[in-house]
Amino acid sequence: MSRPIYLDNNATTPVSPRVFEAMVPYLTEHFGNPSSAYGAGRRVREAVEAARERVAALLGAEPREIAFTSCGTESDNAAIASALQTTGKRHVVVSAVEHSAVKVHAESLERQGYRVTWLPVGRDGTLEPAAVEAALTGDTAIVSVMWANNETGVLFPVREIAERCAARGVAFHTDAVQVPGKEAIDLKSTRIDYLSISGHKLHAPKGVGALYIRRRAKFLPYLHGGHQERGRRGGTENVASIIGLGEAAVEALEHLEEEQTRVRALRDRFEAAVLEALPGTEVNGHRTQRLPNTSNLSFTGVHAEQVLACLDREGICASAGSACTAGSMEPSHVLTAMGVPRERALASVRFSFSRANTEADLDRVLEVLPALIRGLREQPLSPDELRALAAA
Ligand code: PLP
Repeated sequence: MSRPIYLDNNATTPVSPRVFEAMVPYLTEHFGNPSSAYGAGRRVREAVEAARERVAALLGAEPREIAFTSCGTESDNAAIASALQTTGKRHVVVSAVEHSAVKVHAESLERQGYRVTWLPVGRDGTLEPAAVEAALTGDTAIVSVMWANNETGVLFPVREIAERCAARGVAFHTDAVQVPGKEAIDLKSTRIDYLSISGHKLHAPKGVGALYIRRRAKFLPYLHGGHQERGRRGGTENVASIIGLGEAAVEALEHLEEEQTRVRALRDRFEAAVLEALPGTEVNGHRTQRLPNTSNLSFTGVHAEQVLACLDREGICASAGSACTAGSMEPSHVLTAMGVPRERALASVRFSFSRANTEADLDRVLEVLPALIRGLREQPLSPDELRALAAA
């Protein structure tokens, strides 16, 4: 069978060949501990610092503002936990459509007695900065809202939200895991205090991330241990993956324009063709305030899990909502917060493109998808069959 057509790049991305090549020496000959004082350790430390400079350049930040972590989830958790500790305050503001890395943490804080405001979004998934400001109180420790939604690609106006929080003296964190390489980031020109990224969303390996901590912003570590990362994150560094993240950061900048033009054009051609071929299909999320690579479509009258299973048989990878909820019959909390009715939410499929996708990929998907949906609409599954599919 020919190679799979991978349209699930918001779930994860393949490690790029350049990233892989850059990592190999740090899994073989350069195995020293970056904290060791002798030459073999120092050389590894220098490579880690070079990677930090590259990640800082991607974000428009200073190298010392970057702390490497184990993943986007850790970065998100660390930023919020730190703000609660440094301020001693007990109120957190998040949006209703956060990734589980923020959502589940906030739910756990609620169970521990903290107060959480869950900001509603509009029908197009957008968030009003004024609504964020209205939620602030004297007891607010931090506002954490995502820059780009992983399910719909909808962008939040984080620069303006950060300004409003700064004016009220409240710390602002953004989960930007879906943003690098898709939208330009220049933290120097913003009032964002903390920002999370994750390697595996930009062609670096899984299990490495970074947290931007604005210079002079207060921060207490989440992982207590050694003095690594300037005392902001204990634990011997995941050296090879950090080197990989550095290389991926360089590549993300090199490909940013392509992502915003060629990848956007692929996504737009896909969406226009599907909407024309399949009346009754709806786009979830704002049509322009959106990442260039993401298309979340509701194919009314079918079940997303069934579409995914059929696409899988054709060698096409897509997903229903967040990867973490795939296989569950619960509609996506993101689409639910946007007021999408349950039936339509359960019929929603996310297609997320990357620079690795080609016009030929798109031709093949457009050959398969409309016929597949028409076939499923003609032969709807029984509730029992649906349950079996979701459990599979
Ligand atoms: N935040 C967003 C918006 C994401 O899409 C993801 C991953 O799906 C994460 C956080 C979690 O990142 P990681 O898988 O590195 O923990």
